[in-house]
Amino acid sequence: MGNPKGFLEYARKSNEERNPKERINDWNEYTLRQTDQDLKQQGERCMDCGTPFCHTGMEWDKSSIGCPINNLIPEWNEFVHQGKWKQALERLELTNNFPEFTGRVCPAPCEGSCVLGINDDPVTIKSIENEIVERGFDNGWIQPVPPKTRTGKHIAIIGSGPAGLTAADELNKAGHYVTVFEREDRPGGLLMYGIPNMKLEKKTIDRRIQILMEEGIQFQLNTEIGVDISKDQLLSDYDAVVLCTGAQQPRDIPIEERESKGIHFAMDYLTESTKSLHSKSEPNISAEGKDVIVIGGGDTGADCVATALRQKCKSIVQFGKHPELPLNRGEDNPWPHTPMTFSLEYAYEEAHKQYKKDPREYEVLTQAFKSSDNGSVQSLITSQVKKETKDGKTITVNIPNTEKEWNAQLVLIAIGFTGPEQEILEHFDLRKTERGLVWTDQSTYKTSVDGVFTAGDARRGQSLVVWAIREGREVAKEVNEYVLNSQNTALTS
Ligand SMILES: Cc1cc2nc3c(=O)[nH]c(=O)nc-3n(C[C@H](O)[C@H](O)[C@H](O)COP(=O)(O)OP(=O)(O)OC[C@H]3O[C@@H](n4cnc5c(N)ncnc54)[C@H](O)[C@@H]3O)c2cc1C
Ligand code: SF4
Repeated sequence: MGNPKGFLEYARKSNEERNPKERINDWNEYTLRQTDQDLKQQGERCMDCGTPFCHTGMEWDKSSIGCPINNLIPEWNEFVHQGKWKQALERLELTNNFPEFTGRVCPAPCEGSCVLGINDDPVTIKSIENEIVERGFDNGWIQPVPPKTRTGKHIAIIGSGPAGLTAADELNKAGHYVTVFEREDRPGGLLMYGIPNMKLEKKTIDRRIQILMEEGIQFQLNTEIGVDISKDQLLSDYDAVVLCTGAQQPRDIPIEERESKGIHFAMDYLTESTKSLHSKSEPNISAEGKDVIVIGGGDTGADCVATALRQKCKSIVQFGKHPELPLNRGEDNPWPHTPMTFSLEYAYEEAHKQYKKDPREYEVLTQAFKSSDNGSVQSLITSQVKKETKDGKTITVNIPNTEKEWNAQLVLIAIGFTGPEQEILEHFDLRKTERGLVWTDQSTYKTSVDGVFTAGDARRGQSLVVWAIREGREVAKEVNEYVLNSQNTALTS
């Protein structure tokens, strides 16, 4: 520990952000990089705790705390403080296949568990992580390293999101021949078509895919398993199959006039927006000149707000069912759990600067849509709701006489996902959990079908990039063991 008083001498400083008024005029990332001096001081704030809760990634009191992939945070903080960036990168790469993704989009549960956070602002772990990996790229330290020998085993990965990419990376490093099948035209899963460009520029994904390809991983794009290639074909051609197809079945609102034109799922809207950036053409769904309402108070909804602002919407409102979060942790949300507190995310800051108002409306439930004669949505009817406890259960109830009508020509539904798309699960005839997720043996990631494994959102439901990386690493260990112990060169041969 270089400076035992660093946390007393320096205040927290995370990445500066570009001016919200300016950045809504483009699609570039909204954060800026930090100076050497700032980073050194931020690294010095780390107390090198005896028990570094930040990197535990363990279950505690029914939720997880710290970094799910057990990043060796105090070790790299010390290297950053000493200016030893290459050593910091070597430590980071021990636990994280893609720090350039987590360094940009992870909600940083590590910081919620940082010991300094008990009575001060936590260390800026995520910003430091991102800077370590970016310096690795800047200095040419991150280069393709193909495996020296091959085992002769062939593995198929279905889905190229963070879980599939991590599993592919690990299994390729272990010397197996790996092919990733992806139904979309570009790899990356929700990193590519979900998380918008201003949070994660797509060239960052392309840069990593290029390395994975040069290391020997094959990508077969525009290929939907179950449609273009059958499971029987895969099981006969490969020694193991890893299903990383995510959990992208959107939750709907089955209310009056839902079929009106102009009402879309958030994912369709976000995907269209990113595809239009790639093709440099107008998106098929656009917020330009429209009153936009986003239904759903989560992060996907926030990404819709930021996207609509960039498309020059006329107005923007986001409905959430829950009350506004408190400024400080509640008694039921103690450290080291992730703090459930109010924050002004990038999208809300931008909307606030543009319209002098936070776009969020709390405790609102949509009751009906209203459309014009040509079937296009015109407005929404909502009511205020509150939480009540009945028979020991918390329920949401309408508050009478609180109906309100809101103008809207574009409505985006962002109320989460019900789970994985079922077609692929049924195609493989997989056992499912009560929640419709792919059932696995808890420790081995094996599904109910021999030789078929699963990881990421398909197994755990919509989650986080960092959890997809963790599951990708864990499933790869199991698959490696399975194929090395297997006598077969293909499952059905
Ligand atoms: C809008 C949005 C924003 C988000 N923002 C964040 C964030 O800021 N930070 C964060 O940590 N997490 C975020 N998440 C969650 C995070 O993106 C996911 O938890 C993560 O991507 C899951 O990874 P995965 O690999 O399991 O699945 P996915 O990323 O969903 O990838 C699954 C892939 O499988 C492909 N596929 C599906 N079926 C088939 C088939 N039959 N054949 C071939 N390919 C198939 C899909 O096309 C897709 O590419 C966000 C999610 C959404 C929806
Ligand atoms: S991956 Fe996420 S939780 Fe882990 S150190 Fe990075 S920001 Fe923190």
